[in-house]
Amino acid sequence: MKILITSGPTREYIDAVRYLSNASTGRMGYALAMAAKAAGHEVTLVHGPTSHNPPRVDKTIAVTSALEMFQAVGDEFAACDALIACAAVSDYRPREKFSGKLKREAAKELTLELIQNPDIVQEMAARRRQQQVLIGFALEAESAEDYARDKLLRKRLDAIVLNTPMAIGSNETTITIFGADGHREGPISEDKSAAAKRIITLAEALLEHLRSLPPE
Ligand code: C5P
Repeated sequence: MKILITSGPTREYIDAVRYLSNASTGRMGYALAMAAKAAGHEVTLVHGPTSHNPPRVDKTIAVTSALEMFQAVGDEFAACDALIACAAVSDYRPREKFSGKLKREAAKELTLELIQNPDIVQEMAARRRQQQVLIGFALEAESAEDYARDKLLRKRLDAIVLNTPMAIGSNETTITIFGADGHREGPISEDKSAAAKRIITLAEALLEHLRSLPPE
């Protein structure tokens, strides 16, 4: 199957050198891309900026901002059988980017106006074909299960993988998988490559199920 994976953080530039971002290293997305390749799938990886080199897959698209990621995923989505959205996309971006580098002397106080970025996985869910699987991630610190289930429904995903802030930058992760069909797996603590293999197996099973349904 053709698997599209988003990974890493995005950067939302404030001026020529400063940006808003988060601590995602892209490791989970890279583990997913490798597990998908090892399972014999065709993989497209859309990744945000990190200091780790992406694995060799069929197609790699490096992006910087959420809008660039939205564009790249939008271009690739129609051709994929499964989208696994692992990227830690910035929810907001500055309304305006200052030209050049902001000077300290320019103002005593500065207010940044932020506007919302598109929710990439949710936008793709609205465009999906009948036989396309969508899996999202939820990184939650508190009331984790409720938020994860809420995201599963709101973003109209087939499954969501809940993990914790401890997973950022680590080799290990603790995941709980919630399926739209009520299926629940975990919490399971394992290294990211084992978790990735589990998620790819889930994507395979979900696609097989969708393909077994009568056409709409
Ligand atoms: O709402 P939240 O950011 O917690 O949702 C996480 C899930 O949604 C992840 O699968 C993430 O890749 C995806 N997402 C996205 N576009 C956004 C924000 C999140 O695709 N702008």
